Amino acid sequence: MENKKVVLNVIKEHQPLSRTQIRQLTGIRMATIGKYVQELIQEGWIVEENRNPDSQRPRNTMLGINPEKGFSVGLEFNPEWIIGVVTDMKGNIRKKIKRDTDSNKGKDVVITNLLSAIKELTLGLEQKKILGIGVSAHGLIDTEKGICVFYTQLKDWKNVPLRKIINQKFRLPVILESTAPMRVFAEKSLGVGKGVSNLVFIEYGPAGIGAGMIFDGQLFKGTTENAGELGHTVLEPDGPICNCGMRGCLEALASTQVLVTQARRSLAEGTNSLIRELSGEKPENVTAELIFAAARRGDNLSLSLIDNAARYLGMGIANLINLLNPEMVVLDPQFAKVQDLLFSPTKRAITRHTLQRLMENVKIELSSLGEEIGALGVCAYLIEKEIRLC
Ligand SMILES: [Zn+2]
Repeated sequence: MENKKVVLNVIKEHQPLSRTQIRQLTGIRMATIGKYVQELIQEGWIVEENRNPDSQRPRNTMLGINPEKGFSVGLEFNPEWIIGVVTDMKGNIRKKIKRDTDSNKGKDVVITNLLSAIKELTLGLEQKKILGIGVSAHGLIDTEKGICVFYTQLKDWKNVPLRKIINQKFRLPVILESTAPMRVFAEKSLGVGKGVSNLVFIEYGPAGIGAGMIFDGQLFKGTTENAGELGHTVLEPDGPICNCGMRGCLEALASTQVLVTQARRSLAEGTNSLIRELSGEKPENVTAELIFAAARRGDNLSLSLIDNAARYLGMGIANLINLLNPEMVVLDPQFAKVQDLLFSPTKRAITRHTLQRLMENVKIELSSLGEEIGALGVCAYLIEKEIRLC
């Protein structure tokens, strides 16, 4: 990497930083650092944060990224909601919106809703200051062509050229990425994974189970950028059939959708459970949230379903740890919502199936970011791309 970029990157990672600290972190000569800092200030990349007018020692002035240099627009969507954010160059959220996807109304409505969300987000922003629009999407994505290949949970959602559609409307650079890598990128840039070089993020929720991975500080996406399909690793060869057509995938054993299916089946078989009362005796009213609510009130069926899912989740995560030896594993914000119920049994199962030496050296953390994690991740990714162009 060119030295000027090294200086900018080190400021981004460790801000605020003084010129003296930059020298300690990079080993670049003081005179060279002074020259680059001057240029970066003139180009608007960085600002002096506490310049004391009386100070004769600029080397101790703290430097940080100029938040106003540009703005990122990021979105994530699933069958239920679209969440969008605008962040400044430092990753601070300047605007956030959440709206229904209306996925039951079909593909065209979903696209219209996405476009109108972007319109709302970009409203009032100076066009030339927008770095780009990033979309973090579920299902199989062709990031190179900017196409959503398919997503079983959205009707008719096949080969949707989303990047082109957005680009034609807004005339801005657009990136289309998968959710798991964007979520791990958010944790690395803004969350508990800051400063961690080997990091795995476990995605868990209505959209499925996946893993985002960072090795040696770099996002790992695989040959066709589809790495991290943790949900389709097989844990029971003779297990239930998965959406993908195989048997015994983690997703077919432990997803929130599986919890719902299993609860409905038990109710139909006559099992006594609080879920029956909470759902008004209507199987279609049973949701994962409802099962967690029943478990919180001590319902045996709910507790055993969740325990069973956690056992498989822990097994899947342990396999990842044994394979990759990460420094940290971060669990989805979804885990944080039901921390007491899902996190503890999952962690117990992870411990049971992970080799001791690897277990002793891995931190298992809950995500500190909220539901906007994917939108934030794609914003941070756009910022990183911009810095690479400096
Ligand atoms: Zn599968």
